[in-house]
Amino acid sequence: MLAVGSCGILFAQTRVIAHRGYWDCEGSAQNSITALVKSAEAGVYGSEFDVSITADGVPVVNHDDDIQGHVIETSRYADIKDLKLPNGETLPTLEQYLVKGKELGGVQLILEIKPHKEEANEDRAVKAIVALVRKHGLEKRVDYISFSMNICKELVKEAPGAPVYYLNGDVAPEELKKLGMAGADYHYKVFKKHPEWIKEARELGLKTNSWTVDDTDMMQWLIDQKVDFITTDKPVELKQLLEKK
Ligand code: MG
Repeated sequence: MLAVGSCGILFAQTRVIAHRGYWDCEGSAQNSITALVKSAEAGVYGSEFDVSITADGVPVVNHDDDIQGHVIETSRYADIKDLKLPNGETLPTLEQYLVKGKELGGVQLILEIKPHKEEANEDRAVKAIVALVRKHGLEKRVDYISFSMNICKELVKEAPGAPVYYLNGDVAPEELKKLGMAGADYHYKVFKKHPEWIKEARELGLKTNSWTVDDTDMMQWLIDQKVDFITTDKPVELKQLLEKK
């Protein structure tokens, strides 16, 4: 969305990403399909979610590397497929998530690939996930994010042109650009320490996203710095803050 600044220059207004979907509401839960639906209903730009791959190659949506005592990357899908989320939903596969995202339209799918203990598991996760996104024709609807530099590099290789954002906060924008990434998705404390990275990223044609920003003053500071996206557990509050301007 474009907004006119005080000096009449067009700039992109900060957009809202719901962290683990919009989960802090009736009937929802983090990383549930309901949280994705609620994000779309709330009219935010994007809905973030976390993906790991099972030992037998099924990408599933879950924040932690384990679920109810089962380590995902060493478990068979059959052994975890019936586990329930706190809202009663069954553990979603990435494919179920993508199918729902496609049906909903509008909301951007902010797909975090979690670091895995074995690098080989990260590599096969990237291949399987990129293949699923292609299978459902969602290349333009997915932004990839990861704390793992290995995963980010594999994504740049396996999905040329797809937006890939690095999360870990320890690499300057210039280096991200050289690596072929779309931008920096960093903790707000990193941008507080390096506010110049926001401007540098913009000048390099990269985008900035900041997580997980639930404090109004911090939201406002980042909006004033003109970051492209803010990832928050309070997407409705952030949206209202942006609409007040
Ligand atoms: Mg995440």
